[in-house]
Amino acid sequence: MIPQAVTTYCAQQQVDLSPIRCEVLAFLWQCERPVKAYDIIPYLKEQGIGSPVPMTVYRALDYLAAHHLVHKLHTLNAYIPCHFHEGAHQPATFLLCQDCGVVQEMCDDNAEKFVQSTAAKHHFAVKQQALELVGRCARCSEG
Ligand SMILES: [Zn+2]
Ligand SMILES: [Zn+2]
Repeated sequence: MIPQAVTTYCAQQQVDLSPIRCEVLAFLWQCERPVKAYDIIPYLKEQGIGSPVPMTVYRALDYLAAHHLVHKLHTLNAYIPCHFHEGAHQPATFLLCQDCGVVQEMCDDNAEKFVQSTAAKHHFAVKQQALELVGRCARCSEG
């Protein structure tokens, strides 16, 4: 299920949620772990979306990412739905647990300041901002 806040955001921002984009987004919300593009194809077939090819899925993911509805995790080459529904937020910061596979998304002003000052210091034009911290989550550390 796509959360109500996300549906409202899409309506306000006039995001064009075509059936395939809608199914892809719903699937990401349904999974509790990051999802790889090719894992989405069998789900789309189940939902009766013709015979989707990887290109279709990548296009849907690109569109959703461009509208701040999903994030690509470069470390895992997988996708998660964005947990903040206020549109663009940079940099997206993630805590990736290697034990249970859960990814937490953070929204932190300090991270933004850090990225901006570092880029400015080195005259570096940032195109893509994502901080991926890989390790062990609090719950796994307890056990
Ligand atoms: Zn996000
Ligand atoms: Zn964990």
